[in-house]
Amino acid sequence: MARVLVYCELLQGEPAPVSLEALTLARELGEVSAVVLDPEGERAAPALGRYGAGTVHLGADAAYRDYLGQPAAAALGALVQELDPDLVLLGATYDARDLAARVSARLQLTLLANATGVVPSGPGFAASSTIFGATQAVLTELRGRSPLVLLRPKSVSASPAGEVEARVLPLSLPPDAPRGPRRLESVVAAAAGPQLEEAKVVVSGGRGLQEASNFELVERLARLLHGAVGASRAVVDAGWTPYARQVGQTGKTVKPDLYIACGISGAMQHTVGMKGAKHIVAINRDPDAPIFKLADLGVVGDALKVVPELIAELERRGVSA
Ligand SMILES: Cc1cc2nc3c(=O)[nH]c(=O)nc-3n(C[C@H](O)[C@H](O)[C@H](O)COP(=O)(O)OP(=O)(O)OC[C@H]3O[C@@H](n4cnc5c(N)ncnc54)[C@H](O)[C@@H]3O)c2cc1C
Repeated sequence: MARVLVYCELLQGEPAPVSLEALTLARELGEVSAVVLDPEGERAAPALGRYGAGTVHLGADAAYRDYLGQPAAAALGALVQELDPDLVLLGATYDARDLAARVSARLQLTLLANATGVVPSGPGFAASSTIFGATQAVLTELRGRSPLVLLRPKSVSASPAGEVEARVLPLSLPPDAPRGPRRLESVVAAAAGPQLEEAKVVVSGGRGLQEASNFELVERLARLLHGAVGASRAVVDAGWTPYARQVGQTGKTVKPDLYIACGISGAMQHTVGMKGAKHIVAINRDPDAPIFKLADLGVVGDALKVVPELIAELERRGVSA
């Protein structure tokens, strides 16, 4: 049976959603062990067991919190050398991208970034991803020992495996591990409402809103629906709203129950980040806009009229933010 090592991260003491997604995928591919490099990692071990990790290699050295990338790369590299897994899966977070690149360079291992899935292929594995600005889907055979794969968030739905108790094995920081740049301060962004990637409802705005001040309509509708605000790259580039809200190939991938696209054309680079939504509603004044090909409900009309009417109707029905 193939052995899959999953690098798991914590977000405010809890396993990051993308780590649980990676564990869920890993369960389909072989026997799963997890590695956590975080002083608070022990708290997360039971949850990692529930999502399929039989073993959790726990590095709790404060260096992982205090220094960027390098101590973690030394520890993960040493563990990969020792275990020689058939596959190493990491959720594609900013930190994991840095880490995977370092480990790949250090050990000369294959690295595939931005994967949307992994399947068995011959004696090894193949990973799916998109290329050429998300216009082509490809399946890439992973060659060499212990290939590293960065899994895009929301490519897989996380689901627990049952009440499995993970064996926790301490992992020490290699004595010669370099420290590198030190983290001086860590600030959690104050965010109102649900996180974009986890929200059940996402209301997104695009260039069809005509000008920055109209983006507020999208924010009001999202608040009323207790949802998160998303955006196309066009309006992020124009400075109407922060990059953290960008949905798509070079932004975030969302999988809400409801995605409302207001004045968004539906370019492939946008839809790759939201096509997994259960229900898609599109408001666009061009009946031929590509977004309508994906939409479950399409409203051909002026978003500057339709969105205020929607807001007024919700308020008339007593819905409040
Ligand atoms: C390498 C690469 C990566 C990219 N990554 C991303 C990404 O991550 N996310 C992303 O979004 N894009 C990305 N893009 C850009 C993408 O190709 C599109 O340019 C972008 O998504 C367009 O944004 P938009 O739909 O808001 O604007 P437009 O394409 O300008 O579309 C505006 C739409 O609004 C409609 N409209 C106009 N007025 C109104 C109105 N009053 N009411 C209703 N509808 C109206 C129009 O009919 C049109 O369909 C990327 C591009 C490249 C090359």
